[in-house]
Amino acid sequence: MNYLSDEISRLRAVLNETNIQILALLRTNSLNPREIARLLQKDESQISRSLRTLERFGLVEGRWMRIGGKNIKVYSLKFEELRISFDAKGLRIAIGRNVLSYTPTFFESRAPEVKTFVGRKKEIEMLSGPQPVVVVYGIAGIGKSTLVARVFKDAFWYSITEEDTIEYVTWQLALYLSFLGFSEMLEYLRGGGKDIAVINRLALKGINETNAIAVFDDIHKCQDEDIETFIRFLSSHIEKGKLILISREKPRISYDDRVLVIHLKGLDSREAYELLKLKIPEITPEEFSYLYQMTFGHPLMLILVSENPRFSGENLFEYFFREVYETLSEDEKLILQVLSLFDEPVDLNVLKKLFAHNPFPVLYSLMKKGLVERFGSGYSLHDLLRGFVEEVRTISEREYYRGYIEYLLEKNTAKSFLTAFKYAVRLEDENLIKDMTELRIRKLWRVALDFPASYMKLLDRIKHSPYSKKEIARIYFNRGFFEKALKLWLEVKDIIRDDFHRFDVLMMLVDVYCELGNTDKAVECFAHLERIFSRHPDDPYMKLGYYIELTKIHTFRRERREALESAFKELEALRAYPHIYPELEALVLYHIGYLYVEMGNLKKALKYYREGLKVSKAYSLPFMENLGYIQLGIANYSLKNYKAAADYSRKAAEYFLKVKNYRRAIDALFRMTVSLIGLGEFAEAENAAHEMIKLAQSTNYPLGWSAYILLGILRELQGKEGRRYLEMGLKKVGGNEYISAGLKEELSVIFDEETIQKWFP
Ligand code: ADP
Repeated sequence: MNYLSDEISRLRAVLNETNIQILALLRTNSLNPREIARLLQKDESQISRSLRTLERFGLVEGRWMRIGGKNIKVYSLKFEELRISFDAKGLRIAIGRNVLSYTPTFFESRAPEVKTFVGRKKEIEMLSGPQPVVVVYGIAGIGKSTLVARVFKDAFWYSITEEDTIEYVTWQLALYLSFLGFSEMLEYLRGGGKDIAVINRLALKGINETNAIAVFDDIHKCQDEDIETFIRFLSSHIEKGKLILISREKPRISYDDRVLVIHLKGLDSREAYELLKLKIPEITPEEFSYLYQMTFGHPLMLILVSENPRFSGENLFEYFFREVYETLSEDEKLILQVLSLFDEPVDLNVLKKLFAHNPFPVLYSLMKKGLVERFGSGYSLHDLLRGFVEEVRTISEREYYRGYIEYLLEKNTAKSFLTAFKYAVRLEDENLIKDMTELRIRKLWRVALDFPASYMKLLDRIKHSPYSKKEIARIYFNRGFFEKALKLWLEVKDIIRDDFHRFDVLMMLVDVYCELGNTDKAVECFAHLERIFSRHPDDPYMKLGYYIELTKIHTFRRERREALESAFKELEALRAYPHIYPELEALVLYHIGYLYVEMGNLKKALKYYREGLKVSKAYSLPFMENLGYIQLGIANYSLKNYKAAADYSRKAAEYFLKVKNYRRAIDALFRMTVSLIGLGEFAEAENAAHEMIKLAQSTNYPLGWSAYILLGILRELQGKEGRRYLEMGLKKVGGNEYISAGLKEELSVIFDEETIQKWFP
């Protein structure tokens, strides 16, 4: 028994916030530490440390995989030793008869801490009522957040800032819903899904299915249309669970009987007395009634005046400035000023870094005076006071922003990069922007993939800067706006003097010219790029970039042997690169496989496809893994291994359908249908073809229409009438030479020339 309680207290100590989040993520998937770090937006080395601790405790187990000469570990939950389970309330761990329960929370999406709380009985009752949507509005400091946090301390909590975009809010909500057992939304985002309409529907489905309670605080600050639409959509459709909207102004949503509105006013005299009595135990009735009249029961004001009851009744600012601010110690003033520089709660570790000594005692005293609030490990100034402190601020922001930026960049996550970049943009320091965009390109490429809209918003504020322009161009390029991207890159090409950034522009120019089919121009840019590389032969980025572009040019010119040779060099440079880049590694391996297919060496192709697949699995990259299944489907089909081809493509189809990437799903379903025809499994083939038709109708993706032809063929093969489908398919695909020629070629793997001729008159 003693041993057991020992064990439990040790376990309790181990299960800090990050570790619980990790366990919750591992619930549905085996994951690599790097992917966990990406999902939680936390430092990878911190995640690895946590995983080792959890492994020692027998909560998770790691499995080694060997990839390209490196040992990679993939972790999964280990259920035997302890009984781990999840339900609507969160995580439960049982040892013997003892059960530990946890609700996962997030630093960024957390309710403010509520220490003392008085009154508000009626409002508390209302909040717990049956309406699925509750709006709480009222002036600053009146107690809105405190009230909601008091009732729903474990809710999903997101405080919106002026800078927010839909990306981060939905990322956080998706994580939360996945912890409650609904993983569809997180899988969609992980797979690169960006369609707002899909995200809205998934969030709604997730909240309804898990009965989640979601709080959006400070809605009045929202300056992003997508977030507004998202909130409006949720509020008019949510049925189960609860949506709570906190704002200074009544939010613009549609109001019906599903929406409960609480207009929060000051505390009544009994409640106010209770609050003041806690602060000033010896308060007399006369003093109380004076202070109550002065503050109208505004709780934040009550707390402030209790610090200095000689309140003489000027306006709040004068009072705060003279009576409270002036009585603070120099350290307290400094911390308030520093906090007023930042929009988000600032972590204690940052404050420790910014001040030579431990700031905690000062923060504690400020908290007691009601001037500072705590959110998890972060501290922030109440919004109402921020404006006042900004007016008396004497410190210069430069040094504090720089210190904060340094701290954030060490964390090495896309999110912390974006926060750091926000302050760099405010400093308008061209050199800093240059260095940070270089860091983004060399190391933090996920920023532009996971949070392009957030990054774009910041870049847009300094769009005159050439370094910003080239990053904007890259986001355009990723979205397929090639001409727009080209224009920007050409604009900055001769302005930028720095070799690294020039090299990067040239790389992107090669890419965009290849995409636009202008190989001559691509070759011309490549020659410039080669010259820069020759000056920096040991720069790992330039080496990698050089071979990436060389492979691309050879591939576009259909010079397969040269392309292959360069692709192997690319792989080598990639594996020697100081930061692991498994997404690209898998892609290069698939490309090598593809080149072997083109050269007719299918055995070799299979080998590299499998290797790419292994990389994707080791690093928990489901999107890349399923791209691999599509390739393996193609190669096996050509080898007439129809069973394997059907199985691989079925897997890919299921995944891409799940993450709603319908183009890829059609690719996979196409391969699945023809493979099943090869196998003689006509019934399943028909189902797959029908699925394709459904997707073609919603996406109009040309390959999808070939499903009618496949369906016609399938019916003919079974002695049924198939002409009608064949004709319909030929009509739909008709104009597209590329598709009909490709289709005939694919079918020639299974059927002879004459048979095919019958179907394509
Ligand atoms: P709002 O969200 O309306 O801006 P807050 O909830 O942040 O206001 O409240 C402002 C301050 O007043 C906080 O420091 C909080 O601790 C205090 N406060 C608000 N309501 C109460 C209450 N019912 N009991 C005790 N303190 C309260």
